[in-house]
Amino acid sequence: MKRVLACDLGGTNLRLSIIDESGNILKRLKTEAPRKSVNELIEKINQFKSEVCLHENSVKTLTMAIPAALDAENGIVFKAPNLPFLDGLEISRILEDSIGLPCFIENDANAAAIGEHAFGSAKGTKSFIMLTIGTGLGGAIFINNELWRGLDGTAGEIGHICVEPMGAPCGCGSRGCLEQYTSASAIVRIARELRHEFPESSLHSKLYLSSKEIFKAALQNDELALKVFEKVGFYLGIGIASLINILNPEAIVIGGGGSNAWQAFISHVKEQVQKRAYEAPSKRCQILKSTLGDDAGILGAAKLAIDKTRA
Ligand SMILES: [Zn+2]
Repeated sequence: MKRVLACDLGGTNLRLSIIDESGNILKRLKTEAPRKSVNELIEKINQFKSEVCLHENSVKTLTMAIPAALDAENGIVFKAPNLPFLDGLEISRILEDSIGLPCFIENDANAAAIGEHAFGSAKGTKSFIMLTIGTGLGGAIFINNELWRGLDGTAGEIGHICVEPMGAPCGCGSRGCLEQYTSASAIVRIARELRHEFPESSLHSKLYLSSKEIFKAALQNDELALKVFEKVGFYLGIGIASLINILNPEAIVIGGGGSNAWQAFISHVKEQVQKRAYEAPSKRCQILKSTLGDDAGILGAAKLAIDKTRA
């Protein structure tokens, strides 16, 4: 059976795994994402390959989900706001040369959408939109069972639609992008901005804050944390209402680590969608939580490589 070495490179974590053609994850490793150079990335992949693939002669392909606007066909990264050392690199060629396996790349949210469509919440859905809440906010558009890539292959950058014209500056060069109000890093920033108003909050004087910690506090009804997720849901709802009005999709699937905070933000999302989107398409559009969770990107990357090498 054909197997692939699939990687999901995030702004925070790098996930590596061996996956068979039925989508079974046979081996896996989660490590810190490289911060400074592509050499760090190569080192980590080679280390995993030598540790776990020693007897995996059936592994013939490398495939990687990357948080970037990119040209999947030619293996080139255009812009990676959360991993800027990748900007402009012919990453597929570089990885093929240094790892010794043919390499496919895909935008991380596109990969997650492929994964959810093949194995997860979007199975059986022809047209849907994927949003991944991670270090950034990824987006992907599936129309009639196919990814909509656009002219340059960069379509679906939903995290960079503007929801506050004079809002927070974004790594993409614009400001007030949806990502700046809904991603894990935005959750931490918003908590810092608001915490002086909540002296009773358990998060009030913490030196180090993480999005996970803010979610935990929300589960314990911490007022600051609840306010943060109200804002996240508010902006996410504005974005989703526009997507429903434009594309009339069957479903919106929300994944990525931030989807674990589902119960803290989803009612605020639905409130905005109800207020802002046309009634008929918003009633028919299901807003679903990813069922593959953190594995969506890596499974999608694997599916892509298996399909391409089969063709
Ligand atoms: Zn942006």
